[in-house]
Amino acid sequence: MAISKHSAGTPLPFETDTSADCLLPESMKAPILPVRCPPLPDELLSSWLIRLAWLNAEKLYTFRRRFWMHPGSPWSRNIDLILPDDALAYISKMTLITPESLVNHMLKGYLGTLFEDIDPHGNAQGILTSRRRGQKVFGFGLQLCPDCLRSDTVPYFRRWWKVAYLVTCPIHRRLLIDACPGCQQPLAYHLSDFGKSLLPERIPTSFCATCEYNWSKKALQRDELIPDAFMGWQKQILTALETGWFEDNQIGSLYALSFFKGLHTLIRLVASKGHSSKLRQVIAGELGELPLGVTYSGSQNPFGGLRLGDRLNLLRHAYWLLQEWPERFIWATKKAKLAFSYIDSYKKQTPLPYWVASAAALAHDPRHTRISAEEKESVKRFLEKNGLPASRNQVNRWLGRWYVSRHKEGNWLFNPETHSTN
Ligand SMILES: [Zn+2]
Ligand SMILES: [Zn+2]
Repeated sequence: MAISKHSAGTPLPFETDTSADCLLPESMKAPILPVRCPPLPDELLSSWLIRLAWLNAEKLYTFRRRFWMHPGSPWSRNIDLILPDDALAYISKMTLITPESLVNHMLKGYLGTLFEDIDPHGNAQGILTSRRRGQKVFGFGLQLCPDCLRSDTVPYFRRWWKVAYLVTCPIHRRLLIDACPGCQQPLAYHLSDFGKSLLPERIPTSFCATCEYNWSKKALQRDELIPDAFMGWQKQILTALETGWFEDNQIGSLYALSFFKGLHTLIRLVASKGHSSKLRQVIAGELGELPLGVTYSGSQNPFGGLRLGDRLNLLRHAYWLLQEWPERFIWATKKAKLAFSYIDSYKKQTPLPYWVASAAALAHDPRHTRISAEEKESVKRFLEKNGLPASRNQVNRWLGRWYVSRHKEGNWLFNPETHSTN
């Protein structure tokens, strides 16, 4: 099986008979399209191109010649992540949209926010893996929200639906889907006119080319079991993609790239079959679940190659660790007997982001054992009864935690160690 290659690479074995495209005269390349429309908010570049082809009553095979002067077909590659500069220029010319604004509709636009590089196999951390071979789509590298599609005047695919850390739609408070409900096949919108003599009557981004299922159809059952807190966290992730900052009451403000690198590390630790699998067992116990393993597909981008259900499972584990940061993380890694050196050097990854490294280092401190909610509540009540400040940080200070920085110590009316409750 071949993973999407660099767009300008050599033709894949099944990509034949395309050399004629290179011979198109310069004057024929990228004439302005008769029917044009700008991409919709956060629309994936490929979703927009496919809509443009349909609006101009052109089959995708013919339409690609307007901007694709390379061997092979753009539709069997991940052009949202990697697109040759000349193709972007041709698309810009034929649509009269500047290349700069088109980058905001590509996954490449997440560079520096979600991931820091694109690997030689054409994968990027946090992006769902697209695997296609000719007209066949392997793996479930695309997801959608049926309610978003239904509420659209023009159904289209969002860029954030390609982000592996998002499994829910914060707008409609529901799980996304990563397979066609009609035939259980991977979602694909580039096959609507393949092998057919006529163009589809419906817009290609709205239905399954295999079974004709309408993806925006109202589902019989809704997913009501997703906790509000997890949904709120998913919204924070979506906001981080938009603003470049992950804002959190517990962790504070983090540069989005640093947050996603840390999240990636936590997921790898939780998903591991090796030494750190004990961590999954500890968390599963806390979640009241069986510590079921997750089968990585062995591709270069394992988390991005997982089905939605497996990603949801791992994300729930990671989210559990992130709550009450860094307390739960420290408690759980200690219980799982994971040393800082192990976490820091796991799979020879790039250095841990500071916010994870500092928490992992704290796990060595014997004082950092878990404190129950009841114990915290009783300290809070005590402080309030005595007319003392009882914020979260101050409660932790009385419990001997590290949250309150030294310069704040002078604010204390008296020393908790010497104070008597009598
Ligand atoms: Zn939605
Ligand atoms: Zn289908």
